[in-house]
Amino acid sequence: MQETTAFIHSIPVDPLTGAISVPIYQTSTFVQEAPGVHKGYDYARSNNPTRSVLENLIAGLEKGARGLAFASGLAAIDAILKLLSSGDEIIAVDDIYGGAFRLFEQVYRKFGIQVHYVDAACPENVFQALNKNTKLIWLETPSNPTLKIADIAAIAAISRASGCLLCVDNTFASPALQKPIPLGADIVVHSATKYLGGHSDLIAGLVVTATEELGEKIRFYQNAAGAILGPFDSWLVIRGMETLSLRMRQHCDSAQQIAAFLQGHPEVDRVFYPGLPDHPNHDVAKRQSRGFGGIVSFTLKEDSLQAARRFVSSTGLFKLAESLGGIKSLISHSAEMTHKTIPPDIRRAAGVNDSLIRLSVGLEDAEDLITDLRNTFDRIIVKTNKYSLRLKNC
Ligand SMILES: *Cc1c(COP(=O)(O)O)cnc(C)c1O
Repeated sequence: MQETTAFIHSIPVDPLTGAISVPIYQTSTFVQEAPGVHKGYDYARSNNPTRSVLENLIAGLEKGARGLAFASGLAAIDAILKLLSSGDEIIAVDDIYGGAFRLFEQVYRKFGIQVHYVDAACPENVFQALNKNTKLIWLETPSNPTLKIADIAAIAAISRASGCLLCVDNTFASPALQKPIPLGADIVVHSATKYLGGHSDLIAGLVVTATEELGEKIRFYQNAAGAILGPFDSWLVIRGMETLSLRMRQHCDSAQQIAAFLQGHPEVDRVFYPGLPDHPNHDVAKRQSRGFGGIVSFTLKEDSLQAARRFVSSTGLFKLAESLGGIKSLISHSAEMTHKTIPPDIRRAAGVNDSLIRLSVGLEDAEDLITDLRNTFDRIIVKTNKYSLRLKNC
């Protein structure tokens, strides 16, 4: 049986009624026969049957031992960071998600946890940054928004040899394309807000651990701190995940076409997409994933905040919004949106230029999306020409 079939049929039919859709257990507590004697559920922060289905699903899909569902991707990241103690250190990718950077720097630093940022596209950089306090290596691959690729298996070998944990933020790839645990990662984290939910209609986070023991530790923090995913949103994520594999195929196919179009456009300076043969780690991406994803970034010849602002405000089908992974295509200006919490010098050093524009390629017909981009360039160029014409006249 192929993976998609196996996955769809791993979603249980309700044993009580035969309902083919997972029931939403909208309840806070569960009646007990005698103190401590119950059907496996006592209080809905600790456990909820709808959430349990989701947690088992993601664990299965990522080939891990344990899945855990949280109120957001950041709540999931936060629960993982609680594994650390004061004095511990983290090595993280340098173009890390802005919200994770804020959590590391503005929350956990004051509890004595220090983070070193490296370009993880070269595993040697991770190795060089290790010290005796390193407890966690944090990867995002593909990374956000420059789509850098880190070699998960190579870095897992480094983390194993040094006795620290490897966590991979798998949001951009999704388990339909990439499974970090079989490649050696200890923990996988997702913003399920993105591809797993898939419809831009919820905020959710998921954690998967390679071992039962690590899963139990994070589960303790899930229950102790309480940032759980509610039953209705758990149901929405399950529903989204049912079509994940199909959606990812189309996202990848359209993104590849759009990357090729952008690469041939005279107003574009650079295109970032792991599916392009000239991407520096194209071979690693090909080896460790089944597809290159639905996110494409590019910079403009005119590398300014203003030029990018003009572009992202002028598209039609691509809607200007933060986030990614939904059915409708989105466009964003990293410097002024997702990465505005990162100081400009650190941001630029990580390759996020002022004009960097990120596309989340949705499920519209690729030719319509390309037409939208072509028209936007035409409008922008006309404006630029008028401007220079005016300059010439005065
Ligand atoms: C969105 C995102 C997050 C944070 O997830 P939320 O659901 O918004 O809290 C973390 N990592 C990556 C790569 C993301 O894109």
